[in-house]
Amino acid sequence: MPMSTENLPKCPACQEDMTYPDGENYVCAQCGHEWPIAGIAEEADAGLIVKDAKETQIYSPLMTT
Ligand SMILES: [Zn+2]
Repeated sequence: MPMSTENLPKCPACQEDMTYPDGENYVCAQCGHEWPIAGIAEEADAGLIVKDAKETQIYSPLMTT
Protein backbone atom coordinates (compact mmCIF):
# COMPACT_ATOMS: atom_id res chain seq x y z
CA MET A 1 0.00 0.00 0.00
CA PRO A 2 1.60 3.26 -1.03
CA MET A 3 1.82 6.06 1.43
CA SER A 4 -1.00 8.48 1.01
CA THR A 5 -2.80 11.13 2.94
CA GLU A 6 -5.87 8.97 3.34
CA ASN A 7 -4.92 7.87 6.83
CA LEU A 8 -3.75 11.28 7.92
CA PRO A 9 -6.03 13.66 9.75
CA LYS A 10 -7.18 16.81 8.10
CA CYS A 11 -5.56 20.01 9.22
CA PRO A 12 -7.45 21.31 12.25
CA ALA A 13 -6.62 24.84 11.20
CA CYS A 14 -7.75 24.89 7.58
CA GLN A 15 -9.41 21.47 7.13
CA GLU A 16 -7.26 20.69 4.10
CA ASP A 17 -6.11 17.10 3.74
CA MET A 18 -2.59 18.03 2.71
CA THR A 19 -1.16 16.77 5.96
CA TYR A 20 2.16 15.00 6.12
CA PRO A 21 4.09 13.61 9.04
CA ASP A 22 7.30 15.36 10.00
CA GLY A 23 9.08 13.72 12.88
CA GLU A 24 6.67 13.71 15.80
CA ASN A 25 4.38 16.30 14.27
CA TYR A 26 1.88 16.48 11.50
CA VAL A 27 2.44 19.40 9.21
CA CYS A 28 -0.15 20.96 6.98
CA ALA A 29 1.28 21.72 3.59
CA GLN A 30 -1.56 24.12 2.95
CA CYS A 31 -1.20 26.54 5.84
CA GLY A 32 1.89 25.31 7.66
CA HIS A 33 0.06 24.39 10.85
CA GLU A 34 1.87 21.79 12.91
CA TRP A 35 0.49 19.60 15.65
CA PRO A 36 1.73 16.51 17.48
CA ILE A 37 0.97 13.13 15.99
CA ALA A 38 0.86 11.38 19.34
CA GLY A 39 -1.00 12.52 22.38
CA ILE A 40 -3.41 15.05 20.93
CA ALA A 41 -6.37 12.70 21.11
CA GLU A 42 -5.29 11.45 24.50
CA GLU A 43 -4.93 14.99 25.76
CA ALA A 44 -8.41 15.81 24.55
CA ASP A 45 -9.85 12.75 26.23
CA ALA A 46 -7.98 13.45 29.45
CA GLY A 47 -9.11 17.05 29.38
CA LEU A 48 -12.72 16.03 28.96
CA ILE A 49 -12.45 13.46 31.71
CA VAL A 50 -10.83 15.91 34.09
CA LYS A 51 -13.32 18.62 33.24
CA ASP A 52 -16.22 16.22 33.61
CA ALA A 53 -14.84 14.96 36.90
CA LYS A 54 -14.43 18.50 38.19
CA GLU A 55 -17.92 19.49 37.12
CA THR A 56 -19.30 16.38 38.73
CA GLN A 57 -17.49 17.19 41.92
CA ILE A 58 -18.58 20.79 41.82
CA TYR A 59 -22.18 20.26 40.84
CA SER A 60 -22.99 17.04 42.58
CA PRO A 61 -23.48 18.64 46.01
CA LEU A 62 -25.61 21.41 44.46
CA MET A 63 -27.71 19.11 42.32
CA THR A 64 -28.60 16.43 44.77
CA THR A 65 -31.92 14.96 43.95
ZN1 LIG B 1 -3.79 23.74 7.38
